[in-house]
Amino acid sequence: VAGRISDASLKAVRDAASIVDVVGSAVALRPAGSNRLTGLCPFHDEKRPSFGVAPATNLFYCFGCGEGGDVISFVSKLDGLNFAESVERLASRYNITLTYEGGGQVAHRETGKRQRLAEALTAAAEFYAEQLATPGARPGRDFLDQRGFDRAAAEQFGVGFAPGGWDTLTKHLRARGFSTDELTDAGLTKTASSGSPIDRFHRRLLWPIRETTGDVVGFGARRIFDDDPITAKYLNTPETILFKKSHLLYGADLARKAIAQRYQAVIVEGYTDVMACHLSGVETAVATCGTAFGEDHVKLLRRLLHDQDESRGEVVFTFDGDAAGRNAARKALQFDSRFVGQTFVAIESEGRDPCELRQAAGEAAVRELVAARVPLVDFALRATVEPFDLDSAEGRSGALRAAVPLLAGVRDRVLRNQYALRLSGWLGLELEQVQSQLTEHAGEPSTDARRSAPRPRERQPDDMAVAAEREAIKAALQRPGLTGPRFDALEAAHFSTEVHRELREAIATAGGVCSATDVPGWIARVATAIRSDETQRLVPALAVEPLQYEGDGEEHYIATVVDRLQELHIARRIRDLKARVQRTNPVTEGETFHRLFGELISLEERKRQLRERSLGPA
Ligand SMILES: [Zn+2]
Repeated sequence: VAGRISDASLKAVRDAASIVDVVGSAVALRPAGSNRLTGLCPFHDEKRPSFGVAPATNLFYCFGCGEGGDVISFVSKLDGLNFAESVERLASRYNITLTYEGGGQVAHRETGKRQRLAEALTAAAEFYAEQLATPGARPGRDFLDQRGFDRAAAEQFGVGFAPGGWDTLTKHLRARGFSTDELTDAGLTKTASSGSPIDRFHRRLLWPIRETTGDVVGFGARRIFDDDPITAKYLNTPETILFKKSHLLYGADLARKAIAQRYQAVIVEGYTDVMACHLSGVETAVATCGTAFGEDHVKLLRRLLHDQDESRGEVVFTFDGDAAGRNAARKALQFDSRFVGQTFVAIESEGRDPCELRQAAGEAAVRELVAARVPLVDFALRATVEPFDLDSAEGRSGALRAAVPLLAGVRDRVLRNQYALRLSGWLGLELEQVQSQLTEHAGEPSTDARRSAPRPRERQPDDMAVAAEREAIKAALQRPGLTGPRFDALEAAHFSTEVHRELREAIATAGGVCSATDVPGWIARVATAIRSDETQRLVPALAVEPLQYEGDGEEHYIATVVDRLQELHIARRIRDLKARVQRTNPVTEGETFHRLFGELISLEERKRQLRERSLGPA
């Protein structure tokens, strides 16, 4: 039985893996105020970012769905890994050698299954890339050459060649210590009818398909030999625990940064189109991997685009100009309403794909193709109307009926009116006719109404005291250096809710705010000191949520918040005292009355001082 990962190793991983880096490879992050970045949550569907990352605390938190935690829990939630696997994944990414407890003197490494499969796939990609230089791979090199891809291009995209022979790769990787089961689970090896393990791909040109992080998860394999018994032009790695084709976009690892910077993603159809686009300077190009563009691709793209109201991204589909292309465009239209930004289509007039275009007309032509994009709705409307005989009255009214549902799906009112006008022009109808059809159509429930409303945020504390307590605890966690002695002077009675008292106690148990040195370590100590799971789950939220002040008087703000807690606490005591004073008979209980009254006076005085301090010098 393998030991537990040592605390020293855990610390090394947490120190090395920055939350911005780890989250940033899956989600486009943008700065939001000092010390915070936001993006679209990968754990729930949202239009506006409620997902935040705080570099200083090395934690993330989503105010929409409540997911939160550190780098390890992020990897675990995103990739569906257990704790040890997540740590191992991060350790390998940051070149940290893990040590395990209970493994004696020897650093014992239990490698998670995913990790093993990922290593096998990386080794396979290297092997295949080397094979491309061998004499047997000549037809593969010719294929690339004929499409204008030189050796440097092949290397940049890691293009490889699966050699002949039944089990060349399988043998090679078994010699490197991978078991047949592992190779099978990675989709590299399959069982022949004879029962022996053989390579999945033979004599094909291969493109490694990677996660946005750059990890190889599978391959796309193109037929290049006429005598290849498998006639399918493309083969893919089968679905494995790593290769889920509906969630993958080829080129996303290379395009990720450009997509976030340019607020644009270009969807092309094949591996060679992605290569042609990137080499031509369209570095935002990606392609689906042997599957139609679908809902999961939308989610991935929106995350990479940071698609939301404030920064309208654009998604550009490229399709052939032929009937199949028009159909594909109509299908793509169903996703139009899923993006906040606009969807476009780039159609090459002679029906050439980006790879052919680059060869025939050069790299500038590829850039121009993308630049000359038209809104997808426009294109789809045209494609819908075209099959009708617009010279006949029946044809025109048929075209109108077919086009109205498309038009009704356009959310932007101004755009919708523009299209209505255009449609009326094409069909030779009055604008009013188109609009009345639209109104009739709108009688049915629109897709907008059915689209789920964003989940309500966690109820914000409405009580003034509770809000101030939350601010003070946030400050204690996020800015211990500015909060130290003031916060440590607070007592349990200064906090009005059970949860806040528990947090205050955990802070004390962890050594007090003054003992904090590095912020992530400090927060981890506090979290460990919390007894209830429910309260523990609050920690990422409190560590990431920005302090509610504006401007740069942070230290003054924190002092004011803590003073406010003192003041509210005194106000509560004054209220209680006044009630007791009223219940006391000054004649029969003279001594008690005077003591209570004296206390009341000094509390009122203390309250006045606090109030004056918080208002600052006159
Ligand atoms: Zn969320």
